[in-house]
Amino acid sequence: MGTYDVMQVCENGHKITHSYVNYPEHRQSACDQCGADTIHRCPECDEPIRGKYLVEGVASVGGPDPPDNCHECGEPYPWADEADQFAEVDSSVLDEELAERCLSEYETGHYQSAVRTAFTVLEERIRNRGEFPQGVSGANLMLQAFNAEDGPLSFGETEGEQDGVMFLYRGAFQALRNPVSHRFVEEVDEDYARDAIHTVNLLLRLLDENTSA
Ligand SMILES: [Zn+2]
Ligand SMILES: [Zn+2]
Repeated sequence: MGTYDVMQVCENGHKITHSYVNYPEHRQSACDQCGADTIHRCPECDEPIRGKYLVEGVASVGGPDPPDNCHECGEPYPWADEADQFAEVDSSVLDEELAERCLSEYETGHYQSAVRTAFTVLEERIRNRGEFPQGVSGANLMLQAFNAEDGPLSFGETEGEQDGVMFLYRGAFQALRNPVSHRFVEEVDEDYARDAIHTVNLLLRLLDENTSA
C-alpha cells in the first residue's frame, strides 16, 4: 500500500504542487499563473486534497490533475463549481445530438467552436428535415425553410406567427452565428457560449415539436 502526498491548487483550478508534503519549497500562497489564493484542504470537511500517490521504493514522474470533488465528503472543490452546474444541465435539458457534439468543446474551453458547432447542428437538422441540398445554408436556408408561403418547415397559427418563426431562425443565424464566425471572436467567453448553446437548444426544440422528422 502506498500513501498520498497532498495537492495544493488555486481557487481557479491551477495545480500548484502534488507534493505539498515532500516538497514544501513548491508551495505558493498565491497562484503564480492567476494570482488567486491557494488551498490544500477541502473547504467543506478539511480533508487534505489528494496529491501524488507514493509507493515506497518506486520512483515515478508526474502526478494527478486536480480532482473536481473531495474524495472524503464528495463536495465539489471551488474550481469545479461552474463546470458542474453545466454538466448537470446538459443531459437532462439539452438536445441529445447538441450535447453530444458541443459539450466536449465547451468543457475544454473551446467556446467559439462550441457555438459554431451548435449552429451547425441546427442548420443540418433544418436542411435534412426540409430536404434541402447541401448548398443552401445559413440565413438563406432559414428564409426558404420557414417561408410562410411555401416553406416546408413553416409553423405557427397565423401568418404573423409564421413570419415571426422565420425571423427568429433567420435572425439567430444572422445575429448570433455569423458574428462568431467573423468578428467578435474574443468576446466568445464561457457565458456567451453557454447562452448561445441554450438558444440553439430552444430552436431545436421548437423545430422538433412543430415539424415531423
Ligand atoms: Zn491560478
Ligand atoms: Zn471534503
